[in-house]
Amino acid sequence: ADLVRAFVYVILGGGVAAGYAALEFTRKGVSPGELCIISEEPVAPYERPALSKGFLLPESPARLPSFHTCVGANEERLTPKWYKEHGIELVLGTRVKSVDVRRKKLLTATGETISYKILLIATGARALKLEEFGVDGSEAENVCYLRDLADANGLVNVMQSCSSGNAVVIGGGYIGMECAASLAINKINVTLVFPEVHCICLSKSYSFFDEAVARLFTPKIASYYEEYYQSKGVKFVKGTVLTSFEFDSSGKVMAVNLRDGSQLPADLVVVGIGIRPNTSLFEGQLTLEKGGIKVNGKMQTSNDSVYAVGDVAAFPVKLFGETRRLEHVDSARKSAKHAVAAIMEPKKSGEFDYLPFFYSRVFGLSWQFYGDNVGEAVHFGDYSSGTFGAYWISKGHLVGSFLEGGTKEEYEAIAKATSLKPPVEDLAELGQQGLNFALTI
Ligand code: FAD
Repeated sequence: ADLVRAFVYVILGGGVAAGYAALEFTRKGVSPGELCIISEEPVAPYERPALSKGFLLPESPARLPSFHTCVGANEERLTPKWYKEHGIELVLGTRVKSVDVRRKKLLTATGETISYKILLIATGARALKLEEFGVDGSEAENVCYLRDLADANGLVNVMQSCSSGNAVVIGGGYIGMECAASLAINKINVTLVFPEVHCICLSKSYSFFDEAVARLFTPKIASYYEEYYQSKGVKFVKGTVLTSFEFDSSGKVMAVNLRDGSQLPADLVVVGIGIRPNTSLFEGQLTLEKGGIKVNGKMQTSNDSVYAVGDVAAFPVKLFGETRRLEHVDSARKSAKHAVAAIMEPKKSGEFDYLPFFYSRVFGLSWQFYGDNVGEAVHFGDYSSGTFGAYWISKGHLVGSFLEGGTKEEYEAIAKATSLKPPVEDLAELGQQGLNFALTI
């Protein structure tokens, strides 16, 4: 007979959300032997955003175990030893091949069956491949993606082998922008290629070949960053896309061909053209929405025993009055925490009330964004001084705030102001008040 290992709680996926969920499970009193985490990655959960930032630095780069979760939220660092001490079974380097939510069983690629009473889906997302847009070449050794530790190690190896060479970065979302900055810091000549008129640094499901993306950066904000990047030697090629590669006899990429007919020499190519949530195990078994797994305010899916969190979950965002899927680390951390509270203390826990938040850090720059980028953008601050921002006003209310170069208090102030959704009548006056509007609310 097949061996079946039985657990009360199983977390499928071992990324950011899994780490924060594990910590919350121990706080809510999970007993040794009750919880299991299964992950395709060979390492314990870590803070994924480090991969495009500290991990790529030329001087004292960040390496595990320094960035295991939950250091990113100034919480305990959960090393493999921590999981052991808490009696949490970490099944690493193991892909789950299929899930039967009716029978409450998972089958791993190694042939093991694992049963659960409650399943927490934290499978995150995968990087979109060029092949999905009709361009071949992802397998070349100097074409890099950046989603997991293996990708990051690969990128560092190629980067080290082409010092002072040429890199082409495909995509102007946050992966592209952050990688371009890191490569420039490593003294590589970087050209950033993207189809839009300006970099966007993120959006709801940003897809590189899709012109209809919701842009976070307004033209004014984008030109600030573009000029800053240019001052660091990064070149921009906008309004066009990659159509094919030139390979040498060993199969390495030597150059990139663009739709506008131009060719760029390349020793290294980094591709950041968007992600797709890992939902395939659950298609036909759970309700999907917005490309993710649909959950209610308790992060519970259409099956009572199954919860979903992080990048893969489409959840009701109260502030917007609609279901959204967010691809950001703060949302992964907080949705994980909320799901565990709902699982362990169902009577006590309410509906998830989340203020969308994301951030990026490149070079010496640092920005934060809260809420939604819909409606009219009102810029404020001095764009030459390095501290500036924008508010978004929709239907007469403040719904989103962006700030570059703020202090901790200022970021807290824009977060609070956004969560209050205050009425705004005079946009010009709001622009004049700038940060003071948020600071005095
Ligand atoms: P993930 O962290 O992706 O974890 C999913 C896990 O599930 C992985 O370990 C995966 O291997 C595993 N898995 C999937 N399918 C299976 C299976 N079938 N069997 C077993 N295991 C499986 N967000 C920000 O807000 N700010 C930033 O600055 C920022 N920077 C980023 C930089 C990079 C390079 C990347 C890649 C992302 C960045 N993000 C950032 C986004 C943030 O990291 C994600 O939102 C977050 O990691 C989502 O957490 P998650 O747990 O849902 O998914």
